[in-house]
Amino acid sequence: MNRLRQPSRLKIATTLIKKPSKVSRAQLASRTTKTRFPPLIGILTRHHIPKRLLLDGSSVWFPYAGRSPRGRTLRAVLNIPRQPNPTLRSASANVTSISDNSARSMSSWAQVVTTPTADTPGACVLLHFDQRRYLFGRIAEGTQRAMVQRKVAVAKLHNIFVTGTVDWSTTGGLPGLMLTLADVVAGMKAARAEDAAAREAKGLKAKERDQIEDDLHIYGGKNLLHSLATTRRFIFRKGIPLSLNEIRTDSPCQRNDRALPDFEDELVRVWHLPVSSNPSASRPGSRKRKHGDLEKGNDAETPETDNSELSDADAQHIRQAAVAGMFSSTWSLDTLHEMNLRDVDPTAKIFFRSDSGMIEEYKGPRPGSGKEFADIRVLVRSPWPAAKIETLPDTKPSNESLCYIVKCHPRRGKFKADVAVALGVPKTEFKKLTNGEVITLDNGAVVTPDMVVEASVDGRGFAVVDIPAEDMVDDFLARPEWSDPALMNGVDVMYWLSSENFSAYRHERLVEFMKQHPSVQHVLLGQDVCPNQWALQDPADKTIKMNFIDPERFPLLKFDNRPLAPVDVGDIGAPGARVNLHPKQGYTSEFLVPPLDPANTLKAMIGDHRDVLEMANEARQKVSDPSFLAEVQQSQKDIPDLDTEIIPLGTGSALPSKYRNVSATLIRVPGHGSYLFDCGENTLGQLRRFYGSEGADDVLKDLRALYISHLHADHHFGTASLMARWNKVTTDTYLGVIAVDGFHRWLREYDGVEPLGLDRVIRITPHGSAGSPRAEQTAAVFWNYPETLNEKDLKLQGMGFPKVEICWVDHCLYATAIVMTFPHSGLKIAYSGDCRPSKGFAALGKGAHLLLHECTFEDDLYGDAIAKKHSTISEALAVGRDMGARRILLTHFSQRYPKLPAPIGVESGSSEPSANDDKPEDKKDTSVLYAFDHMHVKLGEFKQAEQFISAIKKLLEDEEKLKEAEKDGDDEELGEVELAEKAKKAAEQQKKKAEKQKKKAGHNRHTQKKKGTAKAPEVTNEAGDVKSLEGVEKQEGVKSSEDAEKPEEAKPQEPVEQPEGVEKPEVNNAEETKPQEEAKEPQDVVMT
Ligand SMILES: [Zn+2]
Repeated sequence: MNRLRQPSRLKIATTLIKKPSKVSRAQLASRTTKTRFPPLIGILTRHHIPKRLLLDGSSVWFPYAGRSPRGRTLRAVLNIPRQPNPTLRSASANVTSISDNSARSMSSWAQVVTTPTADTPGACVLLHFDQRRYLFGRIAEGTQRAMVQRKVAVAKLHNIFVTGTVDWSTTGGLPGLMLTLADVVAGMKAARAEDAAAREAKGLKAKERDQIEDDLHIYGGKNLLHSLATTRRFIFRKGIPLSLNEIRTDSPCQRNDRALPDFEDELVRVWHLPVSSNPSASRPGSRKRKHGDLEKGNDAETPETDNSELSDADAQHIRQAAVAGMFSSTWSLDTLHEMNLRDVDPTAKIFFRSDSGMIEEYKGPRPGSGKEFADIRVLVRSPWPAAKIETLPDTKPSNESLCYIVKCHPRRGKFKADVAVALGVPKTEFKKLTNGEVITLDNGAVVTPDMVVEASVDGRGFAVVDIPAEDMVDDFLARPEWSDPALMNGVDVMYWLSSENFSAYRHERLVEFMKQHPSVQHVLLGQDVCPNQWALQDPADKTIKMNFIDPERFPLLKFDNRPLAPVDVGDIGAPGARVNLHPKQGYTSEFLVPPLDPANTLKAMIGDHRDVLEMANEARQKVSDPSFLAEVQQSQKDIPDLDTEIIPLGTGSALPSKYRNVSATLIRVPGHGSYLFDCGENTLGQLRRFYGSEGADDVLKDLRALYISHLHADHHFGTASLMARWNKVTTDTYLGVIAVDGFHRWLREYDGVEPLGLDRVIRITPHGSAGSPRAEQTAAVFWNYPETLNEKDLKLQGMGFPKVEICWVDHCLYATAIVMTFPHSGLKIAYSGDCRPSKGFAALGKGAHLLLHECTFEDDLYGDAIAKKHSTISEALAVGRDMGARRILLTHFSQRYPKLPAPIGVESGSSEPSANDDKPEDKKDTSVLYAFDHMHVKLGEFKQAEQFISAIKKLLEDEEKLKEAEKDGDDEELGEVELAEKAKKAAEQQKKKAEKQKKKAGHNRHTQKKKGTAKAPEVTNEAGDVKSLEGVEKQEGVKSSEDAEKPEEAKPQEPVEQPEGVEKPEVNNAEETKPQEEAKEPQDVVMT
């Protein structure tokens, strides 16, 4: 204990220096691809006391003492010792040019995973080997969701090659995919550990198994690093050996040896082909290069940033550091660091060591409070490394696109054993011959390998061509690879990807090119040839069925199963289309995914759900009954703008699931335009599914404001594509973006990659006497416009822009809820984002006509709701009651509930008197609905929609039963993800059971509430041992008397302290897929 009482610099250093996990080191050594970043331990900002950098055990003193945090951060990062820039080329000598038997995969093929549709805006191709998978193409938004739907296992996916020009249309799906992969791998490791422990308990030996590969390598063009680095405040995973390889080297055509691939492991070889719209600018001098140049990386000669003080190499280094901090850091939320009080972030939670050596929370005057304070030494949590880089160097949109040629290794010919025996070769010498050795027999005869081994077979492969703009055609055609017979030999297929603006396969000269390669199968993967069929068939099937029940609320969505305009040459790609590479070769249609046919859905509906249809009929009769309609009209005559349309586009939490996409709700107020509340991944695609492409553009033209409630990835990762599209289809309209500063900073950084039209964006941020984000329960009300009215604001005013009020809510740091009040009609709409029930929000939304509230959990998971700072259904309804909200739409369901959650606690249509109602005649009715993706409900039609709830509920229950019956005993058919889902469900059911039993055992809610579920922070002693703060308190006999009164206040479970304005990190879908993480991480990090 004594050691704990003696804080020292040494101690602080030990908390910072943590070795990378053993697993990743072992992996590092075992893998053949070696492009990887060093683990970056710390980048300092002014909030950090030990003024030095620590890198993998070594430390670099940080001498800079100026006041500009940005300048200091940059300099700090630049002080980190350099690693050679990563290049695509594998450095391993283990790779043989002819694959031997051990590396030989049982079978390999290339398969189309996604074609361009509204659900999956990009096309990509999976290269399958039994032991490993590779993904090539546009990793657009929706890719991960489609992979779940199509049961494509991601566990063996370790190399992703992004084609095209880096922007959100080619990389928007990467974050989701990376996080999913990380979770799957973590899940597999946990399962193995559990299994091993169980075996050990039984006295059995652990099973011999191959090591689980956990590293991920991503390759892409210019701005790949910048794009990913901009998300550093939202994405966070620890201990993933990630390498992000931005290909900025010259093209292989400049090399002497074109046969040498840029990437190579024991299974595959990849050549990258950059294609530029301005080759002389992007490859200056186009001097001859040697292969060695590639190894070193040659990005220093193309200045990419406007940061005059920075070379391009320095700028890249900063971006690398940011990304390394996101995935490979060993940072721990639990670690406390010592610093002077004057250096502490004003919003940070502060602890101090009392005279008796115990750690207590500091509640005295602090910097920025206006009161005098003693500059004592205090303890605060450290911000996580990636978030410490406050600003990235500028960048510009890339004018270079990447294509790839992919080939398996040549395969050694068959060994002709009978010939060898006939020649008199003893069996013991066979191996030498297969290894290429010449042997001499006892009789003096010489046997050479070619006498007994058939000629080696060229590795089969394919090319992925992505030419997003016409001005790149020349550079593409000029590439020498196409006329290199050795390289092209084995290329059986060329996949042609297209962009929104340009379809290469319709360009005269490229058609000519395709005709010049007749032995190659040309597969076209463009949105002008691939029909907009359903990529997510399960939810589509549900929506169509619901359309039979209530066509008003569930309109048929836009889709097309027919191939589009014919093309001169090539075959139109389809999901599942497979080209076998080994052992068989050639195309097979056996695995094509048949498009969803609504006629089949109708048949199923009539066959399986007659009683549901009857219930729907009754409901339909009810809602067309004039007396019912008159009643409805009477009951809501005080609600304005009854034609206001509400279209939930994503109603799930965490990662997009099969049935529910992540958060987004569109609201269209007649005469006042459209408003988007949150914008999760592929919100644009969801919009296009609902309205069609042109219809979606019309909505964007009508869009007045976008509100981002908080910075969890599931609430805003669709913004870039949505705003980029908005920027394209509008010219003189303005868009209000209502979000905290951190989000606006992200927009600014990302705008360098592709223009988002920020000059026409009105930033609406909390400002002035905004109160503290920590005072969650007090409504801090802000007026809408941050600056004095200017021309833009006046335009909005003229458009009837609503009054905007925001309050902090209890979720993550800087999470807000919003209330919009529209001029003239007084229509009041309240939206909660994610949060615990908030009194402040209820007060702000008093008298709301419409409340959209999250209800992530059912009531029996109350404990989860507290721990993860979400609301249960009853809590959401209670907020609605406090507000006196007339219409309530519940949304943001845990992905545990892909269907309809348990029955609503309040009877539909019941009169719930609000607190202010004294006289019975003032009683106003309330109406509650559950949101579904692509539902369409008017404010004045909640009552009608309610009539269909029982039919929809019955449909979903019956479907579930049918599915279960089908699935029983059929697990072999399931993909890995499905199996994981099944296991998760079983665990959930058990958990629910346990909760119920607990409740029965007398655990009432009140006591549950008092129990903080978060783990206390840890302090580190000199020996580096980590101890729980909670434990320390107990051991030292310290128990704050407040602890029992205000558990949430007293227990350090607030979001991690960050530099000013920096949001807390995201662990995207942790609450769904990483229960084992929850045990380790304090709860506030695992929320979404
Ligand atoms: Zn959240």
